[in-house]
Amino acid sequence: MRLSNKVAIITGGTRGIGYAIAEAFLREGAAVVITGSRQETAERAAQQLRDAMPEARVSGIWPDLGSLASVREAFQSVVETYGRIDILVNNAGVSEATAFENYTEEIFDRVMDINVKGIFTASKAATEYMIPQGSGVILNTSSMVSFGGAGAGIAYPTSKYAVNGFTVTLARELGPKGIRVNAVAPGITETDMIRALPKELMEPKIGRIPLRRFGQPEEIANAFVFLASDEGSYITGEVLRVDGLSSN
Ligand code: NAD
Repeated sequence: MRLSNKVAIITGGTRGIGYAIAEAFLREGAAVVITGSRQETAERAAQQLRDAMPEARVSGIWPDLGSLASVREAFQSVVETYGRIDILVNNAGVSEATAFENYTEEIFDRVMDINVKGIFTASKAATEYMIPQGSGVILNTSSMVSFGGAGAGIAYPTSKYAVNGFTVTLARELGPKGIRVNAVAPGITETDMIRALPKELMEPKIGRIPLRRFGQPEEIANAFVFLASDEGSYITGEVLRVDGLSSN
């Protein structure tokens, strides 16, 4: 029970890596609030977790991550219910593999709005509680593309390099206030985001990964548990690769 009595918010917790983080945090004794883009998906995922773990303290919220006012209002409701916010996981993200010639301003803005502005709004709203508490942990989901770029889809790797910059900078700024900020950079992980890509594109990548397989969401979630818990108490500003040594 490495997270007992902790209250955690996980953005994009309705499926994939975020859902696996929610399961792992609940198993470690945290109360968990997952955010989704819609009420229906957020509430359904929370119910699914309660069905699997009847003791679990878990609920859903659905703020617009691109709007600080909306996130503030939702996080205020979390504090009214659970009393505090100890851990924020900025995991919501979208990927868009369009070639540069066809990349539009709208796609660029959409990816940056969720992947970058979303971590600003959520971190801003959460630290309004963490700073007065004198403690807190912020964890961001980066990606292996934040080290080597990608073959297409310009905004996605751009956004993940920004996540790393945000992580290190906020760690420096908030360390003196008792708040640790870290990121996890997954390699290719078997979620809907990856299943949506053509098989012919994905299968050849396996041979280039030294561990010869894609990651599972649970394996990424383990790194989040470690960094969220007191086992990571002297780690801040780190971007931890969990990628089988990656393929790019
Ligand atoms: P996924 O598509 O299965 O899940 C994405 C989550 O983000 C969902 O819960 C979704 O509801 C949420 N989300 C998307 N748009 C949103 C919005 N506008 N508002 C609120 N929530 C929104 O993807 P995943 O693979 O689980 O990805 C989770 C994170 O992991 C992302 O940040 C992604 O960039 C990162 N990542 C994934 C992989 C991979 O191979 N799957 C690799 C590296 C990094």
